[in-house]
Amino acid sequence: TSQAPFKNEPFTDFTVEENKKAMYAALSKVKKDLGKKHPLVIGGEKVFTEEQTVSINPGNTDEVIGSVSKGNNELAEKAMQEALKAFETWKKVDPVERAQYLFKAADLMRQRKHEFSAYLIYESGKNWAEADADTAEAIDFMEFYAREMIRLSETSIHQPLTKIDGEDNQISYIPLGVGIVISPFNFPLAIMAGTTVAGIVSGNTVILKPADATPVVAAKFVELMDEVGLPAGVLNFIPGDGIEVGEYLVEHPKTRFISFTGSRAVGCRIYERASKVQPGQLWLKRVIAEMGGKDGVVVDETADVDAAAAAIVASAFGFQGQKCSAGSRAIIVESVYDQVVEKVTELTKNLTVGLPEENYQVGPVIDQRSVDKIMGYIEIGKTEGRLLTGGGRAEGNGFYIEPTVFADVDPKARIMQEEIFGPVLALAKASDWKEAIEIYNDTEYGLTGAYHSKDEEHIEYALENMHCGNLYINKKCTGALVGAHPFGGFNMSGTDSKAGGYDYLLLFTQAKLKSRKK
Ligand code: NAP
Repeated sequence: TSQAPFKNEPFTDFTVEENKKAMYAALSKVKKDLGKKHPLVIGGEKVFTEEQTVSINPGNTDEVIGSVSKGNNELAEKAMQEALKAFETWKKVDPVERAQYLFKAADLMRQRKHEFSAYLIYESGKNWAEADADTAEAIDFMEFYAREMIRLSETSIHQPLTKIDGEDNQISYIPLGVGIVISPFNFPLAIMAGTTVAGIVSGNTVILKPADATPVVAAKFVELMDEVGLPAGVLNFIPGDGIEVGEYLVEHPKTRFISFTGSRAVGCRIYERASKVQPGQLWLKRVIAEMGGKDGVVVDETADVDAAAAAIVASAFGFQGQKCSAGSRAIIVESVYDQVVEKVTELTKNLTVGLPEENYQVGPVIDQRSVDKIMGYIEIGKTEGRLLTGGGRAEGNGFYIEPTVFADVDPKARIMQEEIFGPVLALAKASDWKEAIEIYNDTEYGLTGAYHSKDEEHIEYALENMHCGNLYINKKCTGALVGAHPFGGFNMSGTDSKAGGYDYLLLFTQAKLKSRKK
């Protein structure tokens, strides 16, 4: 409990020559390690299977990142048995002691920061800054949740329960059981690690199924947790097919909670399947489902036009638009519309596209399926709006797509309503600022949004009326920081769990009231 207060891990400034050199060194070190075989981990045992998932570099598809053993029903069942067994001892480990594993892991990851980022660059196609931010966030989650667990364990002493004469009352937060963590490809380190350690530090045991496209960086994290001596069975690692492994575990009667981050379609399916009480099941499963977004930036007539255009472009094209918080829409008030559109077009045209390890601003999307989906939406966009720039594949030996902007799009158009998850931006015109906010709210999602203005009254109104989990004023709508910007969305963006926030760990515990006669 003598920890220093939480502070965000600083981002690396790659304009500093020394930092640039360190990143190049990490990239060449990790390059020598590419192509290795990675095991499943079940009850502390490494299991190599014949069937393998081969992970490739989306920016250079001839390069194999590694091959990872593949789970199935039988191995998932084994993992469940090991996780159940380990829970019996792990739940009794002192919370402060549990937190130490996270502090140690955060320290080690900090020492190898650029190596983890190098894996992200090779396996997920992030540029240096995006990878660095992903690694920093993973470190933040470990530091933050470790402190939160310590705070929560002290709550039994500090929570102000109403005093009753002749009674001694206390509340404490105890773990739930075995949790299934299912993570997405787009923050393959931060979200994967954050959702995993939140479950673990709260005293649960976990079965982790990472995204199929990014299993190697997950395997490196699992190795790290082994290195810090996390007891066998507390973290079990079962990459594999979403249905064969994911769904099997979601439906398992011994599953106590599911922490899912990913698309709306899969999240809804998990929510439904988890709700069915299976024979022998003793509880209602808790489901945390953080899903997609159709986030946007609103610009009113008083806004700083340059800053707004820069925010629109950064929000739309950071990591190729593959963030749940990506600003794939911008709604601009008529009187400044042409000006903003022109600046957005110019900034977008200036973006360079190319190989992530060479640190181009825009890299590849994750896989061929994504390319097909995004190119499909670009075709739809050509019928729904005016193409200003982009619209095709970009050169390179990978899944490259040009940053694409459509103007004059109707608020009801598909590219204004559906999550594309790629470098495609739709611009819409509003007759005034209140209508702009209405258009912003006209979506089934509600994850992030930004409002650009200099008018206090407009800003107050936007703060009150833009319906999303994370709302930013005169900023971009991406880049939430652990501790400062707890993250989660409304409506079809999910359960608004507010990852990286105070009280997040309550989702992985149950409160027990102990009342004693004096
Ligand atoms: P996805 O396709 O939904 O996959 C997410 C995870 O679910 C993967 O591990 C996937 O495994 C697994 N899965 C697939 N089908 C399953 C099933 N039937 N049962 C159980 N698990 C199943 O999402 P993604 O493409 O990786 O990630 C992008 C999406 O995530 C976007 O919609 C984005 O907005 C959302 N996202 C949301 C947040 C947030 O905080 N709200 C954060 C990040 C991303 P396979 O990979 O093996 O299919």
